[in-house]
Amino acid sequence: MLLDGNVIAKSRMDYIKKEIDYIKNKQGIEPELKLVQIGNDSASTIYANAKINRGKKLGINVTIDKYDTMDEIELSRIIRKYSENVDTHGIMIESPLPRNLDYNSIVKNIPYYKDTDGLNPYNLGNLDLKDESIAPATARAVIDILEYYGIENKNVCIINRSAVVGRPLSMMLLNRNYTVTICHSKTANITDISLKSDVIVVAVGKKNFLNEKYVTNKSIVVDVGINYENNHIYGDADFDGINKIVNSITPVPGGVGPVTSTDIFLNFLNGLKIQLELGFR
Ligand code: NAP
Repeated sequence: MLLDGNVIAKSRMDYIKKEIDYIKNKQGIEPELKLVQIGNDSASTIYANAKINRGKKLGINVTIDKYDTMDEIELSRIIRKYSENVDTHGIMIESPLPRNLDYNSIVKNIPYYKDTDGLNPYNLGNLDLKDESIAPATARAVIDILEYYGIENKNVCIINRSAVVGRPLSMMLLNRNYTVTICHSKTANITDISLKSDVIVVAVGKKNFLNEKYVTNKSIVVDVGINYENNHIYGDADFDGINKIVNSITPVPGGVGPVTSTDIFLNFLNGLKIQLELGFR
């Protein structure tokens, strides 16, 4: 069975649009998300443009500041400017950053309620306390897919331990009573773990990584990977090889990606609501 992300993204878009419309009408504000892009990475530009377009559909004004180069002090100054501006409700620093800039250090300067990426340590720490108002969108997207398809109380093998995917996802799964094993590049015999798990979340960034050795006919595969090759996008699963074996699988494209792109705006919405509760307008 295919686990379709587009259908989930559509209903999430409808929800966010309704909430944004309500806030705009009631408060008379124009919600704004500020993107800051440094350098000219083409994938980063594609993602930024996609956010601008999605924002238009939601009634959110997504604007972008582009710089060729920048040092950390200048970037901190820009973040401070938008942090203090009540007309800016979310801030995202586009990845990848040039080598002289460290995302993890920079994101600490964004107030938690404007941290649309959900990667500020405050928001990551909140996940431990079961507060998921602002959470890394990719991790939330995996949860959304499992919940939408009623996949509950399972053993989950996550092949990724990054701050963006594996770590927050493990906490969000624990918050929902899943049992979690995290694997990474130093894990011996990942297949021993994946074959015993109900759900396999793969996010290693390697096309065809997850092949028939990792799965059984009971496996539920959530493929987070994005790999570009010859103008095509591929996941980390050997889709053609395992689709006929497994119980269910997310396609790439059309699986985790569209849900993640939408869940970014759920973070924005929840951050905006916090700002209104704090009386910023
Ligand atoms: P990352 O920081 O490079 O993390 C990759 C993870 O995979 C690391 O934990 C790494 O282990 C592990 N890994 C690499 N090779 C492995 C191997 N041979 N065996 C086992 N584990 C291995 O990347 P990321 O930012 O988390 O992103 C991961 C993938 O997800 C990328 O393809 C990215 O494009 C995609 N992604 C997709 C979405 C979406 O919306 N669909 C969103 C975000 C990211 P170590 O920790 O030991 O190095």
